Amino acid sequence: MPETKVKKSEDFNEWYNEIVELADLCDKRYPIKGMNIWRPYGWKLMNHVDRLIRDEMIKTNHQEVCFPLLIPESYFKKEEEHIEGFGKEVFWVTHAGLTPLEERWLLRPTSETAMYPIFSLWIRSHTDLPLKTFQIVNTFRYETKQTRAFIRVREIHFFEAHTCHVDFTDAERQIQEDKEIADHLLQKLSLPYVFSKRPEWDKFAGAYYTISIDVLMPSGRTLQIGSIHQYRDNFAKPYEISYETEKGDHSFCHQTTYGMSERLLGALVGVHGDNKGLVMPPEVAPLQVVIIPIIFKGKEQTVLETSRTLQNELLEENIRSFIDDRDITPGNKYYDWELKGVPLRVEIGPRDVEKNALTLVRRDSGLKKSIPITNAEQMIKTELKDLEHILYTNAEKLLKDNMHQVLTIEEATQKTGIVALPWCGNKDCALEIENVLEGNTLGEPIENAGCSEHCPVCGSPAKTWMRYARSY
Ligand code: ZN
Repeated sequence: MPETKVKKSEDFNEWYNEIVELADLCDKRYPIKGMNIWRPYGWKLMNHVDRLIRDEMIKTNHQEVCFPLLIPESYFKKEEEHIEGFGKEVFWVTHAGLTPLEERWLLRPTSETAMYPIFSLWIRSHTDLPLKTFQIVNTFRYETKQTRAFIRVREIHFFEAHTCHVDFTDAERQIQEDKEIADHLLQKLSLPYVFSKRPEWDKFAGAYYTISIDVLMPSGRTLQIGSIHQYRDNFAKPYEISYETEKGDHSFCHQTTYGMSERLLGALVGVHGDNKGLVMPPEVAPLQVVIIPIIFKGKEQTVLETSRTLQNELLEENIRSFIDDRDITPGNKYYDWELKGVPLRVEIGPRDVEKNALTLVRRDSGLKKSIPITNAEQMIKTELKDLEHILYTNAEKLLKDNMHQVLTIEEATQKTGIVALPWCGNKDCALEIENVLEGNTLGEPIENAGCSEHCPVCGSPAKTWMRYARSY
């Protein structure tokens, strides 16, 4: 069976760059670096991921909104830390036609500064709270580093939830809900992850604290696919988002945000794919089953009819399928759909029809089996569930095998993936470790119950474990 030019097992990064185009997810030939074209197959995949996110948002009473793309400079400049964090990354609009604008506008890098002046108008009383909103839009950041499809781009397909609460405690409850939402979603994508509380110097600009959601790619590098931020009243004060309490006095809101992006696709591609191409988790696979009629002269009719009957039955079970009756060899069809990662392939030939059976082939293991046509859709459902489970188990093994807890820097240098070391709380000690490991500080485990060891740099008693990893 033909395989991709570069093997995933040999050169992950090259394999990734190749597969995203070969499998028709995107086209990288647009002349602005980091702005790729979503091809139909990739866009369908993204839409299925978005659907799962929307479902989670609706279940938790978030309301979908859609704010303008352009933000006036005066709105943007109200929160100082935030400007410092994003200032160098924004694209500016300076002219309308030939006329310079009185006030510059910027393309949203994220939407706090577009939304919060308006939230201050929407929120009047404690009865308006909590305000739970989200939007799925494109955001823009001027990336200067090497771009990579879905992972580091300048136009980003982005999900952002923004909430306002009466106090810190209620905002903390929201953070808890966000973690549960992330868990549900990532289970469906068969992506195991870690939550880490980012260090002070690497939290989101303007946040009180930031929790990052990271997955481990097979290269041993982590990919941050989302983040959850507790803002306290850091934004509410400059943006004057306050409300009248039950007693009649005024209080500032406490706020949270939760963001994820098309990096989720990057994670799906990287974690589940193999030397033959993508492997799509059934929940988001644009096609879950491809039906390949094996045509012999004189038997076309019965084979095609059987294929169509099966497709109708799959449709009734909400299983996404496609009959590939193109005039090319079955071998070429197998190759195409394996590359695109369709979870199940069904082959129907004249002999299968005679036996009232069909051949089922799994994309993950390549295992083939003959099953009866009667009630085939039930068997197919079971196989899809099992495939999802296997993808999760494999990815979980990759993560577990590459998470280490060690006491010395020397041990850390011998490990790949995510390494946790005791930390005294001093930034310089963490930076020293980053330097030696040529990695980044990922953050503290959020379930952290302290650490009774000693800092491997300065020897002081450790306050916590701290994770480090090379990251994308
Ligand atoms: Zn130290």
